[in-house]
Amino acid sequence: MDIAQLRDKILKQDRRALARAITLVESGREDHRAQASELLEQLRGSGKQALRIGLSGTPGVGKSTFIESFGTLLTDKGLRVAVLAVDPSSARSGGSILGDKTRMERLSRNKNAFIRPSPSQSHLGGVARRTREAVALCEAAGFDVILIETVGVGQSETVVAEMSDLFLLLLAPAGGDELQGVKRGIMEMADVILVNKADGDLKPTAIRTCADYAGALRLLRKRPQDPADFPKAMTVSAIEEDGLEKAWEEMQALSGWRRDNGHWDARRAAQARFWFEEEVRQGLLAKLLQSPAREAMADLAIEVENGDATPSRAARRMLEEHLAS
Ligand code: GDP
Repeated sequence: MDIAQLRDKILKQDRRALARAITLVESGREDHRAQASELLEQLRGSGKQALRIGLSGTPGVGKSTFIESFGTLLTDKGLRVAVLAVDPSSARSGGSILGDKTRMERLSRNKNAFIRPSPSQSHLGGVARRTREAVALCEAAGFDVILIETVGVGQSETVVAEMSDLFLLLLAPAGGDELQGVKRGIMEMADVILVNKADGDLKPTAIRTCADYAGALRLLRKRPQDPADFPKAMTVSAIEEDGLEKAWEEMQALSGWRRDNGHWDARRAAQARFWFEEEVRQGLLAKLLQSPAREAMADLAIEVENGDATPSRAARRMLEEHLAS
């Protein structure tokens, strides 16, 4: 594959070239990885910065409906929108495949939108790298907004928050008990909580739920880097396309503030550092899981199980003997 040619086509916003490049970053083949790495290096800093929006919510809360409506609202404003997904495969049991085009029919036919379903990789680390690199490719291809969707389980929110400029949490109207069901860590990540389905019979419950979350957000640690009224909760109806314009205004207000006050660049820099360190960690682990280190690790594990070595002594031996090589 001619990497320079692929680069030029991506810079000219060629969608097929973008799709091919994403396939390349998804590949596990060693030669593909080398090409992907070269391509990303050549594209580094080339595009304008997109607004990267992370979006999380449990299956059924209305993520695809929201992306369809919100994405269309943005393209109607003349913005180009890409949709990516971080989907640890264990979450598939929830029944929805993230970023699936059939879930966003209108948007998938829109020439200013690009939707990429999540790849079937089970390892979250692999999915994270692939998505992060796909984000960089979409940015080089001139997209204005990149929506990164994930389900509300496990670690995938952290992964998405670490590659987003803004993080949205989509919730359904619910009784007071439900509030405790949202983990504090996820609440802390959210910049804007959107209580969806604020329409019809559900509207009063949605308004009450929103007030509950607004109260809960006020109890969280203050963020000196953000305006005082953030993070905030608001109601939307993805189906009736209600509240979406207001939500977009809030997102712009927050991102504008962060840009003006230097927090945007600082956040991206911290994220770049985080991913560098994460890659090193992953690389070290991968190295340790190859032969002969893998056999040595299995042998040492047995020694530890039998009480013939302490865990820390065995770990030290493992690292001393196998990291230098
Ligand atoms: P996802 O699994 O989070 O992607 O959720 P979906 O977008 O597939 O929506 C799940 C269900 O909720 C579907 O039956 C939608 O029609 C419904 N839904 C989504 N958004 C809204 C909304 O704003 N109001 C109402 N009443 N229902 C909605």
